[in-house]
Amino acid sequence: MGICYNETMDKSNLLMDMELCHKYGYDSIEIRIEYLWDYLKTHSVSELKETLEKNGLSPLAFNSVDNINFCNETQWKEILDRFQFACKMCKELDNPYIVVVPTEDAALSDKTEDEIFEDSVKVLRTLSDIAEPYGAKLAFEPIGNSRWCVRSIRQASEIIKTVDRDNVGLTVDAMNLYCYAGLKDMEDLRQVPKGKIFVVHINDSMDLPLEELEPEQHRLYPGDGVIPLEEFCKILMEVGYENPVSLELFNPVFSEQEPETVIREGFGKTKKIMESIAIS
Ligand code: ZN
Repeated sequence: MGICYNETMDKSNLLMDMELCHKYGYDSIEIRIEYLWDYLKTHSVSELKETLEKNGLSPLAFNSVDNINFCNETQWKEILDRFQFACKMCKELDNPYIVVVPTEDAALSDKTEDEIFEDSVKVLRTLSDIAEPYGAKLAFEPIGNSRWCVRSIRQASEIIKTVDRDNVGLTVDAMNLYCYAGLKDMEDLRQVPKGKIFVVHINDSMDLPLEELEPEQHRLYPGDGVIPLEEFCKILMEVGYENPVSLELFNPVFSEQEPETVIREGFGKTKKIMESIAIS
C-alpha cells in the first residue's frame, strides 16, 4: 500500500502540499475542492497536471461533497454544482474518486434507518449517473458520530450494495468509524462487496468516551492514539484493498502547526504502521 496525503492544513495550499508531499515521500494526494478552486485562480489545469507529475504524485480523490441526504432544492443545487465540477476535474486530471459524505444534522435523528437507506440509495444513484460519463467514482464515507445519518460500516455497506453501480463504493476512515463503536465492528469490513472499498483514511484517536469524540477535533497521528490500526489495516489488506492509505488529520492542533511538520511527521508515523503490518 502506498501512502497518500489528504489536504487538511488551513495554513497550506495545493502547491505547497504537492511540494511537501514529494519532499517527504508520499506517492499520491487527495485534493480538497476548496484548495483546487483557489489554485485555479492563478494556475491552469495543465499546470496542475505538470506539477503533480513533477512531484511524482497521483491524485487519488477529491474531498468532499458533504451533506448529500435529504436536501432541499437550494442545498441540492449547491451539491450538484460542486459535484459536477469535481466530475470534470476527475476526467481532466485522471483522478479516480470523489469522496461523498452523508448529512450531518442532529435533527435527522427522528428518521428511521429505512428512510435513510432509501434516501441514500436514491441520491447515490443520481450522482452515479452524473459521474458515469466522466469516468468518476463515488466513495461514500460513513461518519460514526451520532449527528451524521449514515454511521457504521454495515449501514454504508448495505447502501452501496443496493445502489449496485460499478462507480459507487466506500471510503473507510479509521477515526470516523471509531466514533461509532470504537471499531468493535471492524470485522464488518469483510462483508463489504469485494473491491468496493475505494479509499482508506488513516489517523488515530484521543482516549475519550465515544460520546465525547468529535471526528474533526480529536484526531492524532497514526499510532499515537487508541485505535487498533494494525488490526484495521490487516483486515483491509486481507479483503484485497490495494489503493494507498491516506493520512487525514483534522484537528485544530494540527492546523496551528507548520504544514511541513505535520506532513513530515504524518508520513513517518503512517509508514511505521505499514511496516509493522508487513513484518507481522
Ligand atoms: Zn475521512
